[in-house]
Amino acid sequence: SRTWCAVIVGSTAVPEASAEEGRHGRRSSEQLALPPELVDELVEEALVWCSQHGLIVGDKNHPRSGKAPGVGLLHAPFSLLPMSFPKFYWDQALELAPLFNELVDRVSLDGEFLQQTLARTKEVDLFTKRLLDIHSEMMELKKEEEIRLGLTRSDYMVDGETGLLLQVELNTISTSSNGLACGVSELHRNLVRMHERELGLDQASVLGNTAITQHAGALARAWAEYNNPRNGCPVALVYFRAGYSPIDYPSEAEWRARTLIERSSAIKCPSISYHLVGTKKIQQELAKEYVLDRFFDNKGDIKKVRQCFAGLWNLENDSIVMSAIESPELFVLKPQREGGGNNIYGDNLHETLVRLRKDGGNELAAYILMQRIFPPASPCYLVREGKCAKENAVSEFGVFGAYLRNKDKVIINDQCGYLMRTKAAALNEGGVVSGYAFLNSIFLT
Ligand code: ADP
Ligand code: MG
Ligand code: MG
Repeated sequence: SRTWCAVIVGSTAVPEASAEEGRHGRRSSEQLALPPELVDELVEEALVWCSQHGLIVGDKNHPRSGKAPGVGLLHAPFSLLPMSFPKFYWDQALELAPLFNELVDRVSLDGEFLQQTLARTKEVDLFTKRLLDIHSEMMELKKEEEIRLGLTRSDYMVDGETGLLLQVELNTISTSSNGLACGVSELHRNLVRMHERELGLDQASVLGNTAITQHAGALARAWAEYNNPRNGCPVALVYFRAGYSPIDYPSEAEWRARTLIERSSAIKCPSISYHLVGTKKIQQELAKEYVLDRFFDNKGDIKKVRQCFAGLWNLENDSIVMSAIESPELFVLKPQREGGGNNIYGDNLHETLVRLRKDGGNELAAYILMQRIFPPASPCYLVREGKCAKENAVSEFGVFGAYLRNKDKVIINDQCGYLMRTKAAALNEGGVVSGYAFLNSIFLT
């Protein structure tokens, strides 16, 4: 069965859901009927584990959080138990990871494609313009990056209607949560180990996660490729944990720093080109028919990649804009931003499109429209700020990737573990750090 559901408790067997049940998200809540005393016990054990093992994030409600090290910390929001996930999707997403890594690299080398595709967006989105300006400066300088390192994450949701695994987006900068993702699978293994019989689960079935060691390994390998052990002297590698959002550039100084880094001989993770490949606008352009043919020779690869593309449109297509105005619940309106909390949904989407259309056009180019994906929902115990609530929840599945290349030699092109995020079905957005989603881990069925 290609359906997924929250962990099934109280039996050693995991009942299969019928395709019909999965499509409509009608999974009965008895599947998750844990005795309240067991829930309390699990929650307490989990909270202690999080504190002891650093599964923590900054506490937004604490005035000194983020200002003083070790102050204002809170356990990361998590799902109490791992969830079942069909091996079918797992295999598919893993197979796609090296293809998307390769795609990022190929698109990054096509400077004209990046400039042309983002040309109209640039006119109305100052942030994208600044990034493109750095990019065109590098094109003028004929700057080539011989060693290229990508730490990526391709995010997916299962579309409940068709059962297809659809890509939400491809991240190429600051692909976060690798540490948290590894932590939550350890947390779940530990809880399951202590309650194997009551939960009807085997700890070994909770999938381990290698994201953090593989990403760290790729960074180290890139440093080795740079091959200049005089450190303290030239900088071999720059990793961007910020720089994807306008607020990361409060003054010209930050833009100068970004340009300086880009002009330097250091390996950039990501380079300006890799960064731009991850924009929503490029995602939308790549989803147009035949565009992938420009970057892949193998028809089989093109087919596999295209299969996971959801409906994506630019807003110059007035008939799609009208459809979105009429049925905003079926679409997501996305600006060229990262980090969660930027997309526009529902009534807001309707109003925004009506206004942009009335204003006469140009500003529409700052956005893309995407088909809204509705993953099947199932009940789940979700823990935030020490409190556990049972919610009807949906999940987003990300696969980390690493790509390292030195001139013609591909040194690493791998999948690097996963990120499972679960959120209340009624919510729109889905980031963990941005406060919407809960970390989760999986066992394959
Ligand atoms: P960001 O780069 O800010 O993470 P995303 O495209 O991943 O932008 O959107 C943020 C969140 O919005 C996702 O994690 C997901 O929960 C939700 N979302 C995005 N696109 C869709 C979609 N097409 N259908 C349903 N939910 C979506
Ligand atoms: Mg993103
Ligand atoms: Mg995202």
